[in-house]
Amino acid sequence: MFRLGHEKIKHIIEQLDHAVENHQLWFQNINRSLACRVPCKPEDLMPDSYRKCEFGEWYYQSDNEPLQRHDGFNAIENIHIQMHVLATELLLSSQSSTSSNIDKYDQFAKSVERLRMQIMSLQHELQSSLFNVDTLTSARTRSGMLTELRQQHELVKRNAFSCCIAMMDFDHFKHINDSHGHQEGDMVLKTVIRYILDNIRPFDMIFRYGGEEFLLCLPGTDVVTANYAVERLRSGIENLAITGSDSGELRITVSFGMSALSNDIYIEESINRADKALYHAKASGRNRSVAWENLDTDSIDP
Ligand code: GH3
Ligand code: MG
Ligand code: MG
Repeated sequence: MFRLGHEKIKHIIEQLDHAVENHQLWFQNINRSLACRVPCKPEDLMPDSYRKCEFGEWYYQSDNEPLQRHDGFNAIENIHIQMHVLATELLLSSQSSTSSNIDKYDQFAKSVERLRMQIMSLQHELQSSLFNVDTLTSARTRSGMLTELRQQHELVKRNAFSCCIAMMDFDHFKHINDSHGHQEGDMVLKTVIRYILDNIRPFDMIFRYGGEEFLLCLPGTDVVTANYAVERLRSGIENLAITGSDSGELRITVSFGMSALSNDIYIEESINRADKALYHAKASGRNRSVAWENLDTDSIDP
């Protein structure tokens, strides 16, 4: 799953389209050089030719750092390098000998096709992630949330794992909209969720539950650790200086209600518990996190 905004994802899909087209033309050129023994481009003979093609230049730019955590993106690298290395070897040996390179050529042609397939499968994954990522905030949409939570729940039920969820709601958000306008409100949501995405572990998940309410899922985390992680986020958000377009700096706080997934209750009940804890966080002053497990059971409505 990608933690990238819609525009960035669309841009990557376009770049991958270019990569396929460019390598098709490049492949034709290599074939021409090999078949007609005409000189190839000098960069095709260099050991780092894979960095010199247009795709290579794009692939290794620092802007793509978030993509480098993704298996599909990394898988392309080896295939791409291997394809360029084979092309260089074929070109060099066609210049210097008359021996047959048929096996190597077959391998080369296959690697061109493998690269195309690998790029297309990454594009496919990116396309589907466009449907699962909230356009405004880049959080996951709610549509895949229960499926993800049920998978975590299965691991909890097998005692393989602990997992906590946290409902997060922006404090007095109506006031932000009322005093700064809806657009500034949107910008606040976007900035805070970006902050969270940048400060959670790669396998943590955040879903837009609805409006200005979000659900965090922290796999492999018990209540104590989740409390710590959520407190760190809460205090980071409190100290975030959000620069609005109208009025300089904006400040916002959020409240969290947490609960652990448990083998003896349904996911829906854990969400319910987190919601109750959130209610307590709001009622006791906001800008705080409360775990359902730490609540005085007498104070919880059935
Ligand atoms: P509380 O601390 O009790 O949560 O107060 P609140 O003002 O945050 O709660 P309330 O439910 O009264 O208001 C939430 C507001 O969030 C109302 C709604 O218009 C606004 N909101 C929900 N989604 C969006 C959005 O996508 N963009 C903007 N700008 N506002 C949104
Ligand atoms: Mg709110
Ligand atoms: Mg709300």
